[in-house]
Formats: sequence, structure tokens, C-alpha cells
Amino acid sequence: MSEMPKVMRAWEVTKPGPIDQSPCPLQLVEKPVPTPQVGEVLVKILACGVCHTDLHVTEGDLPVHRERVTPGHEIVGRVVQQGPGTQRFQLGEKIGIPWFRHACGVCRFCRSGRENLCPHSTYTGWDHDGGYAEYVTVPEGFAYRLADDADPMTTAPLLCAGIIGYRAYLRAKVPAGGTLGLYGFGGSAHLTAQLAIQQGIEVHVFTRGQDAQKFALKLGCASAQGAYDKSPVLLDSAIMFSPAGAMVPNALANLVPGGTLALAGIHLSDVPSLNYQQHLFHEKEVTSVESNTRRDGEEFLTLAHRLRIQPTITSYPFEKADEALKRVAKGNLDGACVLKISDDHIAKK
Ligand SMILES: [Zn+2]
Ligand SMILES: [Zn+2]
Repeated sequence: MSEMPKVMRAWEVTKPGPIDQSPCPLQLVEKPVPTPQVGEVLVKILACGVCHTDLHVTEGDLPVHRERVTPGHEIVGRVVQQGPGTQRFQLGEKIGIPWFRHACGVCRFCRSGRENLCPHSTYTGWDHDGGYAEYVTVPEGFAYRLADDADPMTTAPLLCAGIIGYRAYLRAKVPAGGTLGLYGFGGSAHLTAQLAIQQGIEVHVFTRGQDAQKFALKLGCASAQGAYDKSPVLLDSAIMFSPAGAMVPNALANLVPGGTLALAGIHLSDVPSLNYQQHLFHEKEVTSVESNTRRDGEEFLTLAHRLRIQPTITSYPFEKADEALKRVAKGNLDGACVLKISDDHIAKK
């Protein structure tokens, strides 16, 4: 393996603000290549997916956790340096780095299989620099081992959009053979739809974008309509992927008695006032989704491989991360945007 460079190119959020303002809050800069700390490995990045959460970090919907942070948390790369005390991965091994970067391991949540609720948890591309860069570090216990021939571009979106969608799917308690409503149809929803359809679930999509509606039907969803439309059938379960809280009342009205709505986003605009009779009575349940456990991740990646769940992607060169994020802001996307960061020419040792 060649000598490690000292500096790298990376995008950083200089000052959070609207992605369309000038100067853009996201800037391409040079930064030192990070040094892996105890328990961490250094990864040369091949691809990084563009997630709606990156937009929340860039625009300031989420509080700043690290000044001048590099966003990005759907990272596929190869291990190029092992920090002190690491043993899990070999040099050259292909791994995936998700949003959930670290949890304490000793609090009551960590000790009861709910590490996603750990109050000390940290996140890639929010608390620590993420994947809109040439290199990144990760605690080895929080990365995922990937097949050596896994395509970096189509694997990247599985690492957040896919895994979070899977957790939302579990939280929505979709009954066998039941009906599921998806509100918003971007990177995460189009993967969750594939998973649900393959499991025999009837999926109905609610989204403002005409192209997204067509895309949903092409993937095999039973119907696609506007975000505020009445569902053609009452739904057993629903997942809200859109950050628009205004859609919540309609999502609740479309549920069967006893149905469950899972709110999958990390950020949601205010929910309008609800009418108890229309939206909540009949034992309807509302829950949110916070990140995911590593177990969710391992389960989903296994399922995705077995069911051949494939994201539809739009590829962007590394130098155009700002444009990719603007595209995500516009919505009405077919699937997910992915940054191609480097060619894969490191052989496994
Ligand atoms: Zn903990
Ligand atoms: Zn994400």
C-alpha cells in the first residue's frame, strides 16, 4: 500500500444555512487526513450516499454538534490503516460506515438491546466528520463488513436509507399480508417498498412528486397518490419518510383501527392539531424511529442481499456534492443520489 497522504479534499459545512444561498453553506476544502484513534480504523472512501439528514445538518435544522463538520454517513470504502487496539478488519477489507457511529455500551439502553436510544451516542457526519471526503475514521465495532465484490455505489444507500427504513418497517408493525402506506418516496422509502413487496405486503404511496409516484408504481406499489389524498384502502401500518409534519393527520386518518404510524425522520416540522376522533381514537398508535441498532443493520444487510434489494441511484462526482444536496432538497427523486469518490484499485492484503 502506498504512503498515506497528509491532506485530503473534503466538503464541510462552513455555516449552516439554506443550501441555495450564496455562498453555499457546503464548501470543498482541504483538511488533514484523520488519524485513527484507539479502536478505530482509517478508511479510504469509494462512495458516499447523499441522505436527507445531510441536508438537515447543512441547513441547520439540526443543531451544530461539530464546527465545520463534513457530512455524509452512507460510506463504502476500504480499510487502509488500523488504529491502536483494532483487530476486526484486515487492511484492504471493504466495509460500510453508517450514521450510528458510537454508543457507550454501559447505560441502561445499551444493556437492554436499545443502543439506538443511548444518550451518549454519536453520529457520523454530525458529531464526527463523515463521508463527503476522501478519508474517514470509524470505530471498528460500528462498521459493517461488506462482500469484496459489493458495488460501492449501489451499496452506499443501504447503509442509512436502507437500515433506517428497515427499523421504521419494524416499528410500524406491519402484519403478515397486510397493507402499508409510505408517505414521501425518496431514498429510504424506495428501499423499504421493495422489502415490503417482497414480503407480500401491499404498499400504497403518498407523495407530491409526479415522477416519484410513477417510480413507485414501477417498483410494484399498489397505488400512488398525492401526500394529502385519501388512501384507496384503509392501511394497517404507515411510515412517514417526509419531514412535513402537516402530512401526519392524513396518515392517521388513513389507518385502520389499531393501526400504527411510524415517523422515520430525525426532523419533522410541527404537526398540526389532531382531532381525537378522526386521528387517534380506535387505538391508533404513533411512534418515532431513532437511528438504529447494529442488529437492525446486520439483519437488513443480510435481507437486502438475499432479496436482491437494489437502490436506483443517480451518480454525482465528488466535486458536485453541493449540487447533489440541492437535488435532494428539491425532492421528487427517483431513488438515491450517491457521490463517487474514488476508484476501487486497492487489492485486499
Ligand atoms: Zn449507552
Ligand atoms: Zn441518513
